[in-house]
Amino acid sequence: MRVSRLLLVTLRDDPAEAEIISHKLLLRAGFIRRVGSGIYAYLPLLWRVLQKISAIVREEVNAVGGLETLLPQLQPAELWERSGRWAGYTAGEGIMFHLLDRQERAFGLGPTHEEVITTIAADLLRSYRQLPVCLYQIQTKFRDEIRPRFGLMRGREFIMKDAYSFHADEEDLRRTYQDFDGAYRRIFSRCGLRAVAVEADSGAIGGSASQEFMVTAEAGEDLILASPDGRYAANQERATSRAGAAVPLPAGPFRVLATPGQSTIQGLCSAHGFDPSQIVKVLLLVARFADGPDQPLLISLRGDQQLNDVKLANVLTARLGGERGTLLEVEPINPEQVQRQGLAPLPFGYLGPQLEDAVLAGARDWSTHFLRLADATAAELERFVCGANGGEAHRVGVSWSDLGLKPEALDLRAAQPGDRCLHDVSQVLVASRGIEVGHIFQLGRKYSEALGARFTNEAGQEEALWMGCYGIGVSRLAQAAVEQHHDANGLIWPVAIAPFELIIVIANGQEAAQVALAEQLYGDLQAAGVDVLLDDRSERAGVKFKDADLIGIPWRLVVGRGAAGGTVELVERAGGAKQELPAAELAATLVPLLLAQRRGLALDLPAQGEGA
Ligand code: ATP
Ligand code: MG
Repeated sequence: MRVSRLLLVTLRDDPAEAEIISHKLLLRAGFIRRVGSGIYAYLPLLWRVLQKISAIVREEVNAVGGLETLLPQLQPAELWERSGRWAGYTAGEGIMFHLLDRQERAFGLGPTHEEVITTIAADLLRSYRQLPVCLYQIQTKFRDEIRPRFGLMRGREFIMKDAYSFHADEEDLRRTYQDFDGAYRRIFSRCGLRAVAVEADSGAIGGSASQEFMVTAEAGEDLILASPDGRYAANQERATSRAGAAVPLPAGPFRVLATPGQSTIQGLCSAHGFDPSQIVKVLLLVARFADGPDQPLLISLRGDQQLNDVKLANVLTARLGGERGTLLEVEPINPEQVQRQGLAPLPFGYLGPQLEDAVLAGARDWSTHFLRLADATAAELERFVCGANGGEAHRVGVSWSDLGLKPEALDLRAAQPGDRCLHDVSQVLVASRGIEVGHIFQLGRKYSEALGARFTNEAGQEEALWMGCYGIGVSRLAQAAVEQHHDANGLIWPVAIAPFELIIVIANGQEAAQVALAEQLYGDLQAAGVDVLLDDRSERAGVKFKDADLIGIPWRLVVGRGAAGGTVELVERAGGAKQELPAAELAATLVPLLLAQRRGLALDLPAQGEGA
């Protein structure tokens, strides 16, 4: 490809719409253009990157037995009704774009494909003899994200590879899950990414075990907590740990302490010398479900701990999901909402776990009993400080039995960096940030049972299929690569996913010898299978070098003054190392190196003259 024909439109300044470096660079270097919030055009340069990533994904997924297919993006609501996910994906904070056709039938635009694939499996799979089977596709997904941002990182339309496997038993599912774990590690490493596997929450997809693959980067939206011994790593949404011990409350009789204006943990502690770990704080939230009344929640946490929303949502679904359907959202209760329910004001800032259900009597849309949940760190305190539920006062030195309560100890707290690990208390969790590029799940039989995907086993009995699913954010991965590989001058693509592997720059387009040698090398390298770009524009050399750096082509071959003597300059984009080479040697030295790098192998360029 010639740069003059490439429609290369670069921007000199950082675009105002971008916050993180990878987003800025992709816009500046002409890889993407924004069409709407979370909606991007993949310009020809990026499309080449996406094709290369897809090719690597295909190779590795095929190698573990995947069969490529393409499923519809327009999905009948009925399938989602049957799996029980329609309400959760369309109401409240649901992320599925949905519409009615001319006959008023409802459809969703596919955010994921469990329903569709399971329906097809129900139709095609009959016998254990057909198993295991694994289907996958690389396709655009639609999600009406609450906060689309960072360009391709969180788009509302993005490219995903999603695979689904079907098995006769759980053991076989585990094997395929392991195979995908290996395939994913190879995919990310071949794409030149430093990625780590972490334990993950299964979220709205469901199932038992799940693992995410994170590209480590400061701009990542996920917090990873890991032990230095390498034995534990988890997304904070999921992470467990041992909380630090509470500071014991000094002995003394139970008392009610006037605490005017001390409605925060910090205010209370600094006024009376308490440690936050001596306090039980109470959070009032309300959970909305697809069916039934909204559920007020009274959550007790130790004063130094934070609530983990994901763990809470999982507990709520387990406790109430059967009866009230999908959990739609959970939000804090504020004084205005209390008023709207027609209730008397609540003592915010002075709440204690013993707040009586009577305060909910007569509520308009709320259930009139609290669901009371306590984190283990709070439930395990013997004596503590808590709000007195009125009169700007706290109770000091109370126990749970004084309050007439017997809380069950749940894990609702967010693990924090610095916490001790459960597997080894000498290990302390360390935090880093990550971009989730892949997620693998053991789904079990959730979808096959709901959608009637059954097979006849070896014993001749009918049972539901075991399922796994495996996603990779292909477009997010492309941007994550930029987040890990760039410098002040622009992008630095790993060879395996670079839009072009090498760019030939003619230093002076007026010099016939330079033009002739560049054209000859361009032809030779193309013939040798190198993905080569020729900068044939009549710009100054400096401008061409800047553009080559900005778009991040990993190797640059400069045909300049040495052309008359048959030498060229080879510059590596990463690090900028330069060397003069006889043009005649390129076929023997550079070509094998590029082909190896394309496979994700790191080879060194032989020192000058050594390779031939
Ligand atoms: P996230 O937690 O980032 O919202 P998710 O857990 O909902 O992602 P999955 O359902 O596991 O995502 O989807 C599989 C993969 O698709 C993710 O690992 C991620 O790489 C990619 N992905 C998900 N949502 C987006 C998005 N809005 N834009 C780009 N890629 C995405
Ligand atoms: Mg995920």
